[in-house]
Amino acid sequence: MFGLLKKIFGTAQSRLLKKYWKIVSQVNTCEEQLQALSDEDLRGKTAEFRQRLQEGETLDQILPEAYAAVKNACRRLFGTQVHVSGYDQGWDMVPYDVQIVGAIAMHHGAIAEMQTGEGKTLTAAMPLYLNSLSGKPTHLVTVNDYLAQRDCDWIGSIFRFLGVSVAALTNSTPHQNRKSTYAADIVYGTASEFGFDYLRDNSMAQSREEQCQRGHFFAIVDEVDSILIDEARTPLIISGPSAASRQMYDELKDAVGDLVRYQRDLCNKLATDARKILEKLGRLEDSAEPRKLSKEDEAEEKEALRKLWLVSRGTPHNKILKRLREDPNLRADIEKWDIYYYAEPNKEERANALAELYIIVDERDSEFEITDKGIQKWAEQSKDQTYSDDFVMLDLGGEYAKIDANLELSEPEKLQQKVILREEDAKRKERAHNLRQLMRAHLLMEKDVDYIIAEEKIVIIDENTGRPQPGRRFSDGLHQAIEAKEGVAIQGETQTYATITLQNYFRMYDKLAGMTGTAMTEANEFKEIYKLEVLAIPTHRKCCREDADDEIYMTEREKYNALVKDIQEIHGKERPILIGTESVEVSEKLSRILKQNKLEHTVLNAKNHAREAEIIAEAGKQGAITVATNMAGRGTDIKLKRGVADSGGLHVIGTTRHQSRRIDRQLRGRCARQGDPGTSKFYVSFEDSLMRLFTSPRITSFLQRFRPPEGEPISAKVLNKSIETAQKRVEQRNYMIRKHTLEYDDVMNKQRAEIYSFRNEVLRSEDTLSLAREILETVCIQMSHKFFTSRTAEGGWNPEGYRQWLMTHFPLTFENGVFDNDYLQINDIERLAVDKVLNAFIQKIAHEAEKILTAQKLFGQTPQMMAPEAILHEVTRNLLIRNIDQFWQEHLLNIDHLRTEVHLRSVGQKDPLVEFKHEAFALFDSLSLRIKQEIAHALFKFEMVIPKPQPAPERKAPLKPIIAPRTDLSRITDLELKQESGINPDLVT
Ligand code: ADP
Ligand code: MG
Repeated sequence: MFGLLKKIFGTAQSRLLKKYWKIVSQVNTCEEQLQALSDEDLRGKTAEFRQRLQEGETLDQILPEAYAAVKNACRRLFGTQVHVSGYDQGWDMVPYDVQIVGAIAMHHGAIAEMQTGEGKTLTAAMPLYLNSLSGKPTHLVTVNDYLAQRDCDWIGSIFRFLGVSVAALTNSTPHQNRKSTYAADIVYGTASEFGFDYLRDNSMAQSREEQCQRGHFFAIVDEVDSILIDEARTPLIISGPSAASRQMYDELKDAVGDLVRYQRDLCNKLATDARKILEKLGRLEDSAEPRKLSKEDEAEEKEALRKLWLVSRGTPHNKILKRLREDPNLRADIEKWDIYYYAEPNKEERANALAELYIIVDERDSEFEITDKGIQKWAEQSKDQTYSDDFVMLDLGGEYAKIDANLELSEPEKLQQKVILREEDAKRKERAHNLRQLMRAHLLMEKDVDYIIAEEKIVIIDENTGRPQPGRRFSDGLHQAIEAKEGVAIQGETQTYATITLQNYFRMYDKLAGMTGTAMTEANEFKEIYKLEVLAIPTHRKCCREDADDEIYMTEREKYNALVKDIQEIHGKERPILIGTESVEVSEKLSRILKQNKLEHTVLNAKNHAREAEIIAEAGKQGAITVATNMAGRGTDIKLKRGVADSGGLHVIGTTRHQSRRIDRQLRGRCARQGDPGTSKFYVSFEDSLMRLFTSPRITSFLQRFRPPEGEPISAKVLNKSIETAQKRVEQRNYMIRKHTLEYDDVMNKQRAEIYSFRNEVLRSEDTLSLAREILETVCIQMSHKFFTSRTAEGGWNPEGYRQWLMTHFPLTFENGVFDNDYLQINDIERLAVDKVLNAFIQKIAHEAEKILTAQKLFGQTPQMMAPEAILHEVTRNLLIRNIDQFWQEHLLNIDHLRTEVHLRSVGQKDPLVEFKHEAFALFDSLSLRIKQEIAHALFKFEMVIPKPQPAPERKAPLKPIIAPRTDLSRITDLELKQESGINPDLVT
């Protein structure tokens, strides 16, 4: 069945390839014709293509000629010097035919799977050139800043030759230059720079001029799997100081640390006790003789094994446990308890057993749960009562009902009490949330694996690529929790201004394409989430890499010994070696081992990634040993130095199988590029997390029978298969997690799009006063629907309520009973209200304009002064933007909390996602109304004040804020700020 599928899949792929090969020959024919042109005429092609597109030809139609122009430009560049990353380099590339195939695939919005060293950077030049001819924004997304600059310098030569502008966008591109950077036809930059600029444009920019991006037409994502799959899990977040902080990490961190310690001590004691008993019963000796145990002894042994099982659920990394599990028989016996407890009829017994712990840790699912015992311990920790309520949430609905039913309270008192209650509820929720995140930080986040500490800051390490991700933060307070745990300054008082996942950022492009050496294993995900097909492009030369079978060891110790032996042997032949490790921690551990063995080597990990290019450039030298995390050389390839190919090329060693086969393939692909020789081999132990957590229990029983002598590898085909099964299982699981994250984010995505488009409308509007009038009208109408639902239903018709509402929200009086007339339809009522409100607003604006004019006269008019009307437009724009931003930010916080909350509810058999969607929708609904209401309110509240003339002679340009050019709104911002605090803005500084 699978074979058949593969066959169909295969043919679809080969049909496409066949079609593309035909286009390749068209490209080559065109290119031959171009050879006769002068440089000037070739350059003229760019203008000609643009013209033809204007006249209605399509990109597809001009593809062969455009690609030919790129190829021909390369030919003309051949032998010339190009300046790349600080030094001159000879140009020696003309696209191979397979590269043209890849280039065609990318133009059609596919992912071109091309092996390392096949020249993807050059390949991308063709679709970039073609698509940029449309005049629309064309972006190439690189893995890091270095590559953005390098590729812009290097491949940019082609574009410059053809008269197409190209720019690099890096972290060091100053903000004031970004607009002109984006104005280039083609932009090279990292995903986070693109993403952050998008967020800044939509959440920080105060005017249209401050926005730098000009849209999203076509993007090619280099190393697309790394960016869309590995990095996609942490969203980009812009945060800033928050008005009110409720963070309680500092306050809670010690107590959480204590609780985690109690748990560790408890488990340690359990493990020590168990080991003593097993020792006493002779279970730890190597003896061929079967032991004779009495009934009591047997029971005692069983209990000891049960304790060890409990330890595995409390502190999975316990050292004693780890040691004991090296014996396959013990391992199997401990696992028996797992199987026993997870059988349905023993559910209650399991719950009772787990109740002995303070916290239950589920390493596989990265989850944990506090037991009743843990909650009790927590409550005991505080001398006063503050901790005892931490796991009890208020039943807000119930409490409100109680207040409502209390006859002794007046209406305002009731309201007051509800407000107090709501505050208390919010505080408790925040505290519970902080608490959970602190525990997560302690129990599931590991230093030098999940993050490093650099310059007193917590920096995320991408778990698959091993790259540091400065500027990114774990969302939802987890980052602060880790800061608290590690005792570095907690970036307190911050709140999210804007956030987006990379997935959603890239889905905004009209057309997306990608390239990488490893996409096939995730083809399904690319298709489902991004609608990207994967096409495997044949290699230019035949690949002659030799992949050895895995060597599998019982323990890590044995694995490392074997690995060092392998290194010594290969190193003896002077071949360079690249060793891939799964974390910073392992890379450092291995480095220590190599040092002990006097093997000179270089380490490349997140802590010294600045030297990445340099280290990789040296990695192909005779006898070089390079230890690297998975980031190794994505983007920069390892070239063999002279003589190395003769001794067998680069040898790649994997120190474990990774959670996804793709990462393994990526590592293997580091060697044997472009037909070079090369070898690869993976070392695996049963203590590796993949093997520990995801292989089937049958493996243990297999090991019981086939445990080889210390130091010998286990070689059995069945194991290779089960490793792959484990990997597939994890891949599938991680895919589900990503998909899940995306489903949540989708909800936010729609809301974000709506708010951002409203915000942009305000930024771009020429006439913000008429926008303001529209808002006033909408608010009046929307509110009327709350007061007038039906004349017949009880409480369905409340003219007095509406009158009161209008008078509290607008500085207007409505006559007693104006709406209380049986002949008035709801439309008539609305009309009455809207007319009066709009009238008042127009008068207000006229009045403010008058004041500005007076001020201008008072201080002497200058020619560059803005007209009062124009000033009021800007003031209004600012007022609108500030309200939108403020409430959107609050909304983001609420949504964060909602997300945690629905998860707590999942216990009650409800689908958290459905709950989330439902409530996020309701929250957004009330958000829109609130924003409009607040704006309506503010529109009547602001006031321009004529400054008192001061006699100071040195006071120059007293009307500066008034004549401020449109882009300099800082003054107006100040003014708005002051206004909010109740002080009338003074127009003079
Ligand atoms: P990839 O990204 O596919 O791993 P790169 O784009 O980094 O590969 O290119 C690898 C090397 O191959 C580069 O040094 C580049 O100069 C070289 N190269 C690429 N295409 C050609 C070509 N058509 N002719 C000659 N050299 C090429
Ligand atoms: Mg590359």
